Amino acid sequence: MSLKRRINLRNTLAFRLTLWYAGIFTVSSCVAFLLFYTLVTSFIRERTDQELLSQVNRFSTLLAAEGVEAVKGAAVIEAQAAGVKKVFFRFLSLNGQAFSSSNMSYWKDILIDEMALRELLGGSSHVFETIAIRDRREEVRILYAVISPSIILQVGQTMESYSRFLDAFKGIFITTMTFLILLAAGVGWFMARRAVSGVEAVTRTAQKISGGTLEERVPVKTRGDEIDQLATTFNQMLDRIQTLLTEIKEISDNIAHDLRSPITRIRGIAEVTITTGKSLNDYENMAASTIEECDRLLDMINTMLMISKTESGVDKLLHEEIDLTALAQEACELFRPTAEDKGVSLSCNVPKVSHFIGDTQMIQRMISNLLDNAIKYTPSGGSVTVSIIDNDTDVVVSVKDTGGGISSNDLSRIFERFYRCDQSRSQPGIGLGLSLARAIARAHGGEITVTSNLDQGSTFTVILPKSQPHPS
Ligand code: ADP
Repeated sequence: MSLKRRINLRNTLAFRLTLWYAGIFTVSSCVAFLLFYTLVTSFIRERTDQELLSQVNRFSTLLAAEGVEAVKGAAVIEAQAAGVKKVFFRFLSLNGQAFSSSNMSYWKDILIDEMALRELLGGSSHVFETIAIRDRREEVRILYAVISPSIILQVGQTMESYSRFLDAFKGIFITTMTFLILLAAGVGWFMARRAVSGVEAVTRTAQKISGGTLEERVPVKTRGDEIDQLATTFNQMLDRIQTLLTEIKEISDNIAHDLRSPITRIRGIAEVTITTGKSLNDYENMAASTIEECDRLLDMINTMLMISKTESGVDKLLHEEIDLTALAQEACELFRPTAEDKGVSLSCNVPKVSHFIGDTQMIQRMISNLLDNAIKYTPSGGSVTVSIIDNDTDVVVSVKDTGGGISSNDLSRIFERFYRCDQSRSQPGIGLGLSLARAIARAHGGEITVTSNLDQGSTFTVILPKSQPHPS
């Protein structure tokens, strides 16, 4: 493994998580072991001390009952019965002189502790001490106790079981801890890798995307955990970015395409006038046509901007109480002359009152666009009806015509920017009216739908909910 790779591994989150996990696990295991060790050793010590004390009690009772010779004999027998390498008894006078004992050949190195004697003479009933014997591994627990006004008993008991336990404990501790630390590191590594694998997948996808493939998505497992949520959110963000980029591309393609025609026309008019125009009239006509084309261009650009702002919510819509009935009637009156000129009958089927909270100008613009289309795409003799149905929860505005209708192929595309059906190309228009109408309806929390049959007419319906979190 190269140095760079080793450094990289050390910097990884998985490695640090594993270290933490193994560290915490090791410390807690050590604490548990230590606690267990303390409990067991103090239990063993306590039991030894109890045994020594009960020996002393028995000897002092025997001394009181049967005299010193009986006690001396009992000490020898007792030590032999328990094992001369396990226990010893030594009787001392108050000045520390030993005058009798059990077999002390194994315990010759054990001296009499002056300090303990002084403590006893000072009034203590007994004194414990633990001493280590030279060249031997075990320790000895010793008890000094006054068993009569002139006799001190020194009892010693080997702590061999204690040492054995300590050895066994050390062995078990080292083996178990090694196994546990390895297990903790293994489990920690596995868990950390599992946890960060999702993050790595997100990183890999992000890297691929920065390399130019926006179609990449992070695979989502079905665990439903935080990593899945991250992946899902990341994918949703990518979907949104991709849609926006596609839209931006489409819009810029459309703008490039749709701006080219009027600019080409303006250039053509100017060129023809310069090369052939002789009179002031020719130049006046050129100026008039140029103004007309420029107006078209401005209208297109302004409408585009309005759609973008309405869709993105950059411009906050007004929050006004709108009298929809009056608004629809005004729109009908405005378009009536156009309809009459075309021989199209226009009727307005609205309730007495219909109120809605929204942006008056925007709603006006939406109804006008629908009405304008209905009259524009309905031949002479046809009819157009604007109606409003005011429900408790929403207001439904519809514009119905008996015009040429829209084919099912076109129906799904007419709300796209700049989309125009083939049969409509003879009519004036830039293909943005319905896009704007839909943006306005959606900005008010509503939706616009259309039903249409070729040669039978179309109905555009806008549903505007009354309880909406609008205007956006
Ligand atoms: P335009 O400026 O072309 O009218 P719109 O976005 O308003 O742009 O409409 C898009 C296309 O939808 C129109 O070009 C037309 O083909 C079709 N359309 C819209 N309204 C109607 C209608 N009432 N009847 C038939 N076709 C319609």
